[in-house]
Amino acid sequence: MNIVKELKKLKIGKVVSEVELKDYTTYKVGGKALALVYPDDISSLKKLITFIKDNNVKYKVLGNGSNVIFDDEGYDGIIIKLTKFNHLDIDDVKIVVGAGYNLVKLAYKVINLGLAGLEFACGIPGSIGGAVFMNAGAYKSDMGYIVSDIKVLTPSLEIKTLYNKDLNFHYRTSFLKEHPEFICLEATIILRHGDIKLLKEIIEDRKQRRLLTQPLEYPSAGSVFRNPSDDYAGRLIEDIGYKGHIIGGAMVSEKHANFIINKGGATSSDIKKLIAEIQSKVKKKFDVDLILEQEIVE
Ligand SMILES: Cc1cc2nc3c(=O)[nH]c(=O)nc-3n(C[C@H](O)[C@H](O)[C@H](O)COP(=O)(O)OP(=O)(O)OC[C@H]3O[C@@H](n4cnc5c(N)ncnc54)[C@H](O)[C@@H]3O)c2cc1C
Repeated sequence: MNIVKELKKLKIGKVVSEVELKDYTTYKVGGKALALVYPDDISSLKKLITFIKDNNVKYKVLGNGSNVIFDDEGYDGIIIKLTKFNHLDIDDVKIVVGAGYNLVKLAYKVINLGLAGLEFACGIPGSIGGAVFMNAGAYKSDMGYIVSDIKVLTPSLEIKTLYNKDLNFHYRTSFLKEHPEFICLEATIILRHGDIKLLKEIIEDRKQRRLLTQPLEYPSAGSVFRNPSDDYAGRLIEDIGYKGHIIGGAMVSEKHANFIINKGGATSSDIKKLIAEIQSKVKKKFDVDLILEQEIVE
């Protein structure tokens, strides 16, 4: 069966064949996917999932690709992009936003309206769906502090509301991460009124600090490992002498040891080898198991 041809027949939205995943991830690595689909709306998404299940094809929802490592061999399945799920409704401090909406864009937008609570997100280049999935956060705050509920498509294709208490938000994890078969469609976020001038000062100050401490001039996917309790992954990596360590085109950043950067021409395999080497050296020297924050997609 020609999957792409069949997908196009469904008339559920744009279907692109043979895309290079490196063009859809911030690491700029990853081979070809069978197809990439942009469902037009919820009913199209339901049709797509039904097709996927009926034909026993692999699939993966992709946000902004800022936390994933696809294989150099690519992905033998369908990539679903919820770019069209980008509605935004702001009613006083209540924000209802589509899963495909850009988190940084939302953070700047609400700050310009004098709304506080999303300042932490100004440097996190994810989508709303990916941010809820990861419970993205910084500066002692995260999505768990502001998301009141989300709308999901369940594996049985029902639309359900999951409330904050159901979402099991903890350090870089959530109910969605534990149950990747649920698809986040939209989130409701509750913010607070704040002082625009002060909020702008906070984000400008943090932006300057990030520019100094993070290698933002190179492709990466942010922090590679979770911080072990009461310690920093970056410190451990520095202490094994791995700052600046290179495998192929992948390098441990000189600016921030918990970032691996693509110096140019890195492959997914370079990055994975570097990750494995760091884990093994840190285990040997400190008896600490560094846990990956980024996701290797099989
Ligand atoms: C320069 C840089 C700085 C960063 N700084 C931070 C930081 O300070 N704090 C932080 O927490 N993270 C940070 N990150 C990591 C990353 O931006 C976050 O993890 C972000 O939340 C990932 O969102 P995404 O849309 O890119 O998700 P993707 O990488 O596209 O996907 C991540 C996972 O979420 C799933 N997913 C995506 N959308 C949905 C959906 N709608 N429904 C269900 N599942 C979904 C995917 O299937 C995948 O498993 C940084 C990354 C970079 C490149």
